[in-house]
Amino acid sequence: MTWNIEIKNWHAVAAWTWDAGDDVCGICRMPFDGCPPDGKYPGEDSPVVWGVCGHAFHLQCITKWLSAQTEQRCPFCRRNWEFKAAATAEGGPGANQQAA
Ligand SMILES: [Zn+2]
Ligand SMILES: [Zn+2]
Repeated sequence: MTWNIEIKNWHAVAAWTWDAGDDVCGICRMPFDGCPPDGKYPGEDSPVVWGVCGHAFHLQCITKWLSAQTEQRCPFCRRNWEFKAAATAEGGPGANQQAA
């Protein structure tokens, strides 16, 4: 049953990709490693983005939220929303090596 182990490993890798500190999107309440309502597939097709305030949402969710607002504010803390360098935007998961 070697293949079963391989599947589990794949899941583990997929899970760490969205290390947002919170497991669910604050807008759609769906897990970051799951599908947002408008997403077709979890993972690469539903990237997670961070604001400078430190809150994270699915890209689709925050984009939809911002487009519905007159001011670009985080739905959580109401601070001005600015996209922080997204781990998924460029370079893939490896780009998220932000040394604390
Ligand atoms: Zn979402
Ligand atoms: Zn915020």
